[in-house]
Amino acid sequence: MINLVVVIGGGVIGLACALRLRQAGLEVLLLDAGSPRTSASFGNAGHIAIEQTRPLASPEAARSASGRLFALGGALDFRLRDIRAWARWAPRYLAASTTQQAKAGEQALARLLASAMPAWRRLAADLGTPELLIEDGHLIAWETAASAEAGLAHWSNAETGAAAVHAMTAQQVDDLARRLGLRIAGAAMIMNTGQVSDPSVMMESLDRTFRSLGGQRRSARVVSLRPALQGTDVVLEDGEILNCTRAVVAAGVGSGALLEKLGYTAPVIAERGYHIEGRLEDHGTHWRDSPPVVFEDRSMIVTRFGDRLRASSFVEFGHEASPPDMRKWARLKRHCAELGLPMREPLSEWMGARPTLPDYLPAIGSGPGELVYAFGHQHLGLTLAALTGELVADLVTGRERSLALAPFDLSRFARRKPLNTERHGPK
Ligand SMILES: Cc1cc2nc3c(=O)[nH]c(=O)nc-3n(C[C@H](O)[C@H](O)[C@H](O)COP(=O)(O)OP(=O)(O)OC[C@H]3O[C@@H](n4cnc5c(N)ncnc54)[C@H](O)[C@@H]3O)c2cc1C
Repeated sequence: MINLVVVIGGGVIGLACALRLRQAGLEVLLLDAGSPRTSASFGNAGHIAIEQTRPLASPEAARSASGRLFALGGALDFRLRDIRAWARWAPRYLAASTTQQAKAGEQALARLLASAMPAWRRLAADLGTPELLIEDGHLIAWETAASAEAGLAHWSNAETGAAAVHAMTAQQVDDLARRLGLRIAGAAMIMNTGQVSDPSVMMESLDRTFRSLGGQRRSARVVSLRPALQGTDVVLEDGEILNCTRAVVAAGVGSGALLEKLGYTAPVIAERGYHIEGRLEDHGTHWRDSPPVVFEDRSMIVTRFGDRLRASSFVEFGHEASPPDMRKWARLKRHCAELGLPMREPLSEWMGARPTLPDYLPAIGSGPGELVYAFGHQHLGLTLAALTGELVADLVTGRERSLALAPFDLSRFARRKPLNTERHGPK
């Protein structure tokens, strides 16, 4: 057996882990099954959202769900065709959405988010592209006086960790509305948050740096993991078996199937989101200086990447591989047209799956057989990627960690211990 770490999953989490492990001096092989464009890491909104300390598993989120349904004009959807996927997940979500659990989750998530931006600064510097990280905060805009009042009241009282909320004055709102060509009734500036300049450029940069340091990458689907006499056997779809010292499961929604075969309880669901994207119209150059804007009445975030605007939304529970729901792109187009966003046709359309666990906390930890996992980052995978890479490298190398990982251990879902702890020879 060679001294090899295999990282499964080439999304932003797997890439950040692979790079940090390689920088720690380990032999690293990254395996990914799909095309990078289909992963959530490619199509996300690019927002470093350190203000989102409150997990979406909370009494208030559960209570408000029925009013946020897609059928009623909202962003939340449960696809009927995929009922088998979410009917098993939803009771776990409700059980995790108690006042007590949400408070504990908030404290745990806040600790991660407080370290997220510094970790991104270190990562962007190591990639040699500090300009990948833009720390200009973001805006929240409301379109009616009533929603502005309610939204400002909410954000002014919300726990936002290292981020700070500044309600804009009427004059500032007018200036913003004129500059961006919007009709809005209120807005807030959220300080200390940020964005990446382009998620796909950032992914390419991670991949390039990993390879330039001698990291290996292969296109392959892992079908199972087996404890071996020494280390772990990684079984590929074509039957090939790779033996490694440590395996890191960072396969987004795909992590659940791999870990459940090993006896873990890993109830990750595909929480699908959609975006449309178009180049800025010539008259839209004023968006070039804009940070991301959340249009809260429409549950939509608009981010500028280079000369493109991307509008993202929707929380659709279902199977990762189910066909997209075309109505969601149509709804996004309608929102953008109603807001008068300067996006030039043709608009590209994308759909991808956030990996989400019932308590809306990520799973970061290690289990029997030297297995390490890092997945389930829900709406915060980009935000937490740089930090997760560092934490996983600490776990694998045995370095001291600055953050306690107990709240993120998968054992929180377990009714029994992972079964497959016995070692056996290659089959
Ligand atoms: C519309 C939308 C907007 C978002 N906006 C933001 C945002 O603004 N900020 C933020 O922080 N987060 C955001 N997110 C969430 C974020 O994108 C995800 O949390 C993050 O990308 C998850 O990264 P990942 O690497 O865990 O998973 P993924 O990006 O899904 O990558 C997993 C990879 O594993 C591979 N894989 C799966 N199974 C196997 C297998 N068996 N063998 C080999 N490879 C396998 C897949 O091919 C894939 O490439 C958004 C998500 C969506 C959908």
